[in-house]
Amino acid sequence: SVTGVQTCALPICLGQSKDMSAAAAAGAGATSAEVAAAAAAGAAHPGTATAPKMKITPQCFKRLKLLGRGDVGRVYLVQLVGTDKCYAMKVLPKKEMVERKKVKRVQTEREILSSSNHPFIVTLHWSFQSVNCLYFVMDFCAGGEFFRALQRQPGHCLPESWAKFYSCEVLLALEYLHMLGFIYRDLKPENILMTSTGHIVLTDFDLSKGSTVQLTPQVLEKSMLHTEPGIITNSFVGTEEYIAPEVIKGFGHTSAVDWWTFGILLFEFLFGTTPFRGKTRDDTFGHILDGEIHFPERTVYPQISKQCKDIISHLLHPDPQKRLGATHGACEVKKHAWYKGIKWELIRNQEPPIVPQLSSKYDTRYFAPLADDDLIDRLEAEAMKPPKKLHRS
Ligand code: AMP
Repeated sequence: SVTGVQTCALPICLGQSKDMSAAAAAGAGATSAEVAAAAAAGAAHPGTATAPKMKITPQCFKRLKLLGRGDVGRVYLVQLVGTDKCYAMKVLPKKEMVERKKVKRVQTEREILSSSNHPFIVTLHWSFQSVNCLYFVMDFCAGGEFFRALQRQPGHCLPESWAKFYSCEVLLALEYLHMLGFIYRDLKPENILMTSTGHIVLTDFDLSKGSTVQLTPQVLEKSMLHTEPGIITNSFVGTEEYIAPEVIKGFGHTSAVDWWTFGILLFEFLFGTTPFRGKTRDDTFGHILDGEIHFPERTVYPQISKQCKDIISHLLHPDPQKRLGATHGACEVKKHAWYKGIKWELIRNQEPPIVPQLSSKYDTRYFAPLADDDLIDRLEAEAMKPPKKLHRS
């Protein structure tokens, strides 16, 4: 009764993830060893696995702990049955998605995750569905939300060199998303997760905007490939303190919004607060539209450098067309003096400033304890029930 990707009870049929067919594991009746073998083959060599085509189903995973709740779904730490491999599994009840009009957002999120292959974007291994739920199986980011790591730091902020390191990883992720034709639109510390090694990954793509425009990468300079999604979108999205002025004004916006939010994020890394925060939403929006940036005194760490203030000011330019990154995208931001000397290709091999202390791959110490309401169990049990017999009267 639990069906794999091929069966769609609702029009929100999400197709296979890029790895799905390769790693398709056993459906009902398969042994845990078969599940593990099929999955391992696919995971190790996505797209080339010779594993038999079998369905991957919710039963292939043992749910160990509720890690978090998103807008609609729940995210669990799961173990692939018959192996010691663990993943984060996002489960989205279809009914809730439909009722709360989130179908399009989930589709966008899946589209982005399934087309991405980048060290700083969370890896999606499988997506599939049952009668009642959609499932995304991703890498488990054991370091938890970056937001919490920031909260644990003195003054809720970072030394400048640390802020630079994490901003480099975020910048590379944004560059990649823009190259794929997506605008992220919801950059904030809550949407950044830390892996077990302390590197960061972007997650939560449901506010992102896909481009229908066919992108043609252009070579701007020697070895600099540049593509920026040129779509203009009018929807009002984002998190209050991170919203760009053009979004508030409803003028429509482009990928320049991501450079604005990148500037806000960098400011928050350095000062433990966002630059335009007001007492009310209207105050905040008023400050954003005024556009005046006040750099507070730093009490915990030395004052930040002139170049750092300069890059923030240019990223937070109220005119999206004059904003740093608006013309030539990420390569323009990378060329700012603050990043002088950064070896972009080697960032992923550098040891991050904060390395999570974990005792095992199942360690969830960086996640707050959450009570599960067992909704998913109930939904899946419901789907397993045999259909009611009809009685003639
Ligand atoms: P989301 O539905 O994407 O907003 O996720 C809700 C919460 O689940 C996040 O805030 C994280 O705490 C947690 N979470 C989501 N994805 C992962 C992941 N890949 N690894 C670990 N935790 C995750």
